[in-house]
Amino acid sequence: MIYLDHNATTPMHPEVLTAMLPYMRGPCGNPASVHHAGRAARQGMDQARRQVASLIGVHDSLVCFTSGATEANNLAILGVGGMQKQPGHAITSRTEHPSVLEAFGVLQQQGHRVTYLDCDSEGRIAPESLQSHVTPDTFLVSIMHANNETGVIQPIAALADMCRKQGVLFHTDVVQSIARLPWDKEAMAADLITLSSHKLGGPMGVGALIMDRTLALTPMIVGGGQERGRRAGTPNVAGIVGFGAAADWLNKHRQDTVTSMTRLHAFLETSLTEKIPGLVIFSHHAPRIANTTLLGIDGLHGETLVMNLDLVGFSVSSGSACASGKGEGSHVLAAMGVPQSLALSAIRISIGWNTQVQQLERFIHQFAQIVARLQGGATVR
Ligand code: PMP
Repeated sequence: MIYLDHNATTPMHPEVLTAMLPYMRGPCGNPASVHHAGRAARQGMDQARRQVASLIGVHDSLVCFTSGATEANNLAILGVGGMQKQPGHAITSRTEHPSVLEAFGVLQQQGHRVTYLDCDSEGRIAPESLQSHVTPDTFLVSIMHANNETGVIQPIAALADMCRKQGVLFHTDVVQSIARLPWDKEAMAADLITLSSHKLGGPMGVGALIMDRTLALTPMIVGGGQERGRRAGTPNVAGIVGFGAAADWLNKHRQDTVTSMTRLHAFLETSLTEKIPGLVIFSHHAPRIANTTLLGIDGLHGETLVMNLDLVGFSVSSGSACASGKGEGSHVLAAMGVPQSLALSAIRISIGWNTQVQQLERFIHQFAQIVARLQGGATVR
């Protein structure tokens, strides 16, 4: 099997599993317990907190562990919403992950006004459009760094700067960019940052919200005081230790991985464009992370392509893995104004830290064969 769906989840690094095993085999105490086993668990978590903090370049007290990025996005948006004494205004974009969009939907149900910024046909959000929508009662702006479907990179530095000058809290989801772009701590001066462990080589079911220490955000899960009262519940110690080990791996290897992914990604896109007439790469002219290709071929169906590729041993996804299975087109492509028939043909190929050029060569060959067959043509060279 050749796995080309790293935006859905990326395989764990072997070092991560090694770090987790002692905590999984046990005995692993509850980190809140005072005895030796509890203290050992707490030390594991403390180290992971330092490792995750160091990936972002912040003090470890800013890290709040969660069950993943979905929870971190919910906590950021609903937690800041909960701080408001009266209904106010919040801003996001139409191309955000559902865990952001649906949390904004809850804000609306709670009586807040929400502005959904439009993007252009390449999926980019113009900083000026944010500027023009900020009102005196705007309390939060949430814009993701890189889109999980198209890979488009938003101008986070400019957006964060604009919010800082206007005294508005800025949240960004960096789930898809953190392992695929050099990290610029100064530029990424957001008040709240969302991370997910399983998108950077750690286990599933763990994430973090990085937040300003002074922010008295309303918790969503109460009842134990863990994570400085921001997220109650006995933590997933082994998972958190794995998340820390993955962050550490990334800190050491990001430069090399990004360089190699950039080369492979360019090879993939050039070869696919050469071999398959009529193939469209969405957001081709926008800045994108070096691992994501969302493509379409009018007249074909994305789900059919995915199933045919699966039969010959390739894992890719149709549109967004999070939305697939619902039978709906991508909300991101809809926001970009892509016609429905082309949008329904979309498949996403996302490479990762262990992708090899030979795997891509095989993929390109097989994919071209499948497309030719489905289009009723002869076998391609
Ligand atoms: N944000 C983005 C941009 C994502 O791609 C995903 C995963 N599809 C999430 C949030 C949710 O992450 P998790 O699986 O950790 O809940």
